[in-house]
Parts: sequence; C-alpha cells; structure tokens
Amino acid sequence: MIYSDLILNAKNWGQIICSWENNRLPHALLFHGPAGIGKEAHAIELAALLNCTNIQDKRACGNCSSCKKIISFQHECVKLILPLPRGKIASSNDSYMKAFKNEKALQEYLDMLKEKGSNPYAHLNVPGSNTILINSIREMKKNISMSMEKKQWKIILIFQAEKLCVPSPAAAHALLKILEEPPDQTIMILVSSKLDLIIDTIHSRCQKIYFPAISNTIIQSQLENMEQDPATASIITRISSGNISLSRQLIDSYPEIMKKLYIFLNSCFSRDPSIWEKNIDNSARLKNKDFSNLEQLFHFAILFFRDMLYYQNTNSIEDIAYKNQIEKIEKLCQSYPDADWHACIEHIENAQNYILRNGYLPLMIINLIIDIQGSIQGEYHEPFQLSDWVKV
Ligand SMILES: [Zn+2]
Repeated sequence: MIYSDLILNAKNWGQIICSWENNRLPHALLFHGPAGIGKEAHAIELAALLNCTNIQDKRACGNCSSCKKIISFQHECVKLILPLPRGKIASSNDSYMKAFKNEKALQEYLDMLKEKGSNPYAHLNVPGSNTILINSIREMKKNISMSMEKKQWKIILIFQAEKLCVPSPAAAHALLKILEEPPDQTIMILVSSKLDLIIDTIHSRCQKIYFPAISNTIIQSQLENMEQDPATASIITRISSGNISLSRQLIDSYPEIMKKLYIFLNSCFSRDPSIWEKNIDNSARLKNKDFSNLEQLFHFAILFFRDMLYYQNTNSIEDIAYKNQIEKIEKLCQSYPDADWHACIEHIENAQNYILRNGYLPLMIINLIIDIQGSIQGEYHEPFQLSDWVKV
C-alpha cells in the first residue's frame, strides 16, 4: 500500500480489483461520497497499483520506483489536476504553471503535495482557487497525446472534480471528448464530494463508485489512539460526522473553533450589539481565510440546533453531539418551548448560500441573527459561558 494508515473500503476496492483482474477496468471512474473519507487516497492507491512493478496481495508495494514516484507526485504517467488560482494566466493557451504567481506560491503547492504523499486524509486546497482551469485540461491532453512509455498505464487524477463545472463548465466541456474516447491504457479517476454539481455529460461518461462516511467508532478510537481525552474525542467524533480528515484537523483547531462557535451561538440568543459584531468579525475572518472555514463554523452551529431539535422531540440525550452542553440544551428547551429549531437550521443554510453567492457578509450575518431570534421566540440572554466550550 502507498498509505499504511488508509482505511481501505474493502467493498469498493474488491470491485475495482475484480475489474482490473478481468481487464475490464472502466476508462473513467468517478469516486464520490462525503468529504474527508479517503476517496483521493483510494484513487492514488489505484494509480500506484496499475504501474507497480512488485504488486503484493493485489495492492501496490509502495517501495518500487514507480510507487515512489507516485507518492511524490512525480510519475511521468500520472497527472494530477486540481482547482488552481488564475495567478498570471492571461489566456487559455498559457501553461497552468502560471497559476502560481511566484516561487513562494509554487513552493506552498509542492509542500502540500508532499504532505498528501504521507497523509491520505490531507486536504489539497490551493489558496485563491475556485475552479479547475481549462489550461490544466489542455495541457493534460497535450501530454497524453505525446508518447509516454507504452507499457505503463496513463492515469489522470482529477480531484474536486465538481470544480470542472463551477462557476463555469468550460473545463468540463474541454474534458468531454477525451473522457469518452481516451487513448489506450489510460484511465481517468475523478473524485468529488459534491456530485450534484457535476454536469450530466460528465456523469454519463464515468462509472460511479460511492464511498460512505467512516463510522463514529473508528474515528473515536483513532482519536483516542492519538491521545485525545475520551470526552473531547467523543465531541470531535460527532461533529466530524464521518469525516476523518476533519476529525484530524480538529485535534489542533478544536479550541479555536469552539470559541468562535460560542460567540456565534450567544449572538443568536443575545440583544447585545457587541456580541453581534464579534460574530460578524469572526465570520469575515474565516471567510477571508477560506470559505470552507466559514462553512465549517456554520456546520457546527447547525449541529447545535440539530441537538436542540432532537432534544425537543425526544427528550433524550443519547444522540446529542455536544455532550458538554447537555444541561444547557435541556434548559434552553424549557426556556423556549415554542422555538422552531428546524427553522434555525434552515436560516443558517440559507445564509451560507447567500454568502457563497457573494452576498454582503455583515448584512447576511445580521439577517441570520434576526431570523434565528424570530424563530426562537422568547426573552433573550446569553446562555453560554466560554468555559462551557473550552478550557479558559
Ligand atoms: Zn510498487
């Protein structure tokens, strides 16, 4: 194996191996399913297997020269395509390397690839990128038509493949022909956590393989093996919702994100403008760093309101994500008997969509707070202490 700590999906891997052994590997695969569960690593494992010179137990050896080149993303027959920023690209004929506006940007990209070579769950995200550039597709097509070593498999890995289609489907259209009729011994592996954004013409040309979320039991035991205390591990497990990549990130970022969540939630229960401002400030900072950070905060807030909804409906604490807030959740449910917690979740989802479409963030957050308070209905106060969420 390339990755010793990848949790291999035995069913999917078995299916892939079966097609490979029978020489019936489809020329285009689309790995999809929730984020952070190792889909990209499975694609890399398959790329390695196809060209490994010392296959062991139907898996790549991880040590031959081909495997080593794949781990370091330097294999001449394996091309990786990712969303990249526009950088210094002026026309669709420019090399995609111009996406990196200076040495530093290029070095950060190479460091990120290096990390991915050792961590199957590392997140590949180039700052400032929001689409797969048509330049990347054109260059890949040029490369593929030039003679690469005939005996070897040519593998095109396209990660965050939905970005072929958004904000514009230009890259998707450029890919269609080669996706339909690739050269011999060529396989394209598309990977996406957002299947619904992928256009039908791409869908129909790929064999889709679904990867489900990782079970909570596995995530919890991994976190405990990494010396997380069981109580925090349990919360991280719940809020990771089967996303092993997120659970690993949270080992470091948990206290910081919980401080932001504490402010977010208090602003939903408070008439104090200073706490509203803090929420706006935090949200703007997260968004400026990377939109996915803000999405994460919203996701954690949604989980809290889901806890409220769950307790209101069941009076049970069994499936509560925020086990450290059980007393508060019980009290809040009693204080706000007429609250529509489900509507609160919808307000957050709507705000997220507006902000994604470039809505003016401060206004969106104020509207969100007003909408949530309208759905909670009652006398407001700040229910949480920071010490409820993290050690202060
Ligand atoms: Zn090998």
